[in-house]
Amino acid sequence: MALIVQKFGGSSLASPEHIKRVARRVADTVEAGHSAAVVVSAMGDTTDNLIDLALKVSSTRPSREMDILLTTGEQISIALLSMALQEIGIDSVSFTGGQAGIVTEAVHGKARITAIDASRLKKQLDAGKVTVVAGFQGVTEEGDITTLGRGGSDTTAVALAAALQADLCEIYTDVEGVYSTDPRIVPNARKIQEISYDEMLELANLGAAVLHPRAVEYAKQYGVPLMVRSSFKPVPGTLVKEEAVMEKGLIVSGIAYDLNVAKVALVGVPNRKDNLQLIFRTLAEENINVDIIVQSIVQNEGSDISFTVSKDDLSHAMDLLTALQSRLGAQEIVSEEDLAKVSIVGAGMISNPGVAAQMFQVLSENGMLIKMVSTSEIKVSCVIDANDVQKAVGVLHTSFGLDAVETATVAR
Ligand code: ADP
Ligand code: ASP
Ligand code: MG
Repeated sequence: MALIVQKFGGSSLASPEHIKRVARRVADTVEAGHSAAVVVSAMGDTTDNLIDLALKVSSTRPSREMDILLTTGEQISIALLSMALQEIGIDSVSFTGGQAGIVTEAVHGKARITAIDASRLKKQLDAGKVTVVAGFQGVTEEGDITTLGRGGSDTTAVALAAALQADLCEIYTDVEGVYSTDPRIVPNARKIQEISYDEMLELANLGAAVLHPRAVEYAKQYGVPLMVRSSFKPVPGTLVKEEAVMEKGLIVSGIAYDLNVAKVALVGVPNRKDNLQLIFRTLAEENINVDIIVQSIVQNEGSDISFTVSKDDLSHAMDLLTALQSRLGAQEIVSEEDLAKVSIVGAGMISNPGVAAQMFQVLSENGMLIKMVSTSEIKVSCVIDANDVQKAVGVLHTSFGLDAVETATVAR
């Protein structure tokens, strides 16, 4: 008998029919003799709809109130799934994040989990019940409700799996596993059987929405084996673990893209030794994450400094830098929004020179201008025009030998 954490995403819970199907799936696990700790997201587009609702009454959307609002989505799901389970004879009990003992730091909108007291869940599981926990939420030490960032239910599932010392954490979603790229934009993306935590972490951080980056981080940290699989079709999914068997001959294992990219450029910044730290310290103090940074020093004429931030942070970053402009002595500060980052990821890159060159060649042969580049041991990212992203992912997928013979099955 195993203890399995099963997480169901919004698309798997989109309607009462979906919820009944999920209940059946959980029942199969229980009837096979296992214990099931279930984590759920909000139904379908509920979270987006709640955000739209907030926009109708508030221009500022205060983060504390937003967290209280958004967590109602998951609360609907736990109640309905628990009822659907009881309806088919499975003893179950629902818990909000706080009731499940999930404590987070006191940050609204993107809190990190700081502790889990899983004793209440354990007690119910030991008594043979299914526990149904609301993903994406926790409470602070003071009892305020927080959320973990969009897509954060995956993180709840992995953190609970670690706290409960579960044998496996299954992430059920609307595709059959982790693919070489988003199967919604490349229909012949290939399903990956096994992938290492490190490669998956790069893919997730670079935009592959199938897993929340922090979920992969926790899985690696606590050694939780993760299985990403379809909630619609009972077929094997993708196993994410420490050491994965690499498919022979593949240097690149996945391609990710991110449309949430904006660029800021400071032109003609005098070459003073503290200017660079002043710019990035100012942004860091306001919690603005900076991604790719490019600095080019033109001797005696100052530097051009450009970097990327997420689109949501652009106007805040521009306000901060404009206020600093005269202190920095920068000639001009400009921004650009219609951008995307496309990235190739693969552990095989370490020992294969020429991978970045191949990427640049493929993009340029297809008429795309590369605006920024960043590399690590196992990835190369290029910032390009947002309009080019689908084509870029497609041609790179073909060039690096990733096209599958079959078309991926995607629930629509
Ligand atoms: P859920 O509601 O189940 O959490 P998400 O929408 O968050 O589902 O994640 C699943 C989606 O991730 C898929 O529908 C797919 O479009 C997208 N995706 C992006 N990159 C990948 C990838 N490499 N492999 C699989 N799916 C991906
Ligand atoms: N419901 C939340 C969201 O839409 C959390 C999740 O789905 O994981 O972002
Ligand atoms: Mg998700």
